[in-house]
Amino acid sequence: MSYAEPFETGATLKLRKKHPCGNDCWRVLSVGAYVEAQCLGCGKIKSFDPFDLRRLVIARVNAR
Ligand SMILES: [Zn+2]
Repeated sequence: MSYAEPFETGATLKLRKKHPCGNDCWRVLSVGAYVEAQCLGCGKIKSFDPFDLRRLVIARVNAR
């Protein structure tokens, strides 16, 4: 991964692993000790460990 700051509030991230709803894009809601992100498929909000999330990110998607 070449991102310096992938976990910016408002960024949309495409993840390696699909959510059970079939979606793989998440919107970053807040960044702290954990990264809170919302599934764009079903709206579920989940906290990710930043280290895990970094490994899950395939791409940063800027299109809505
Ligand atoms: Zn979902």
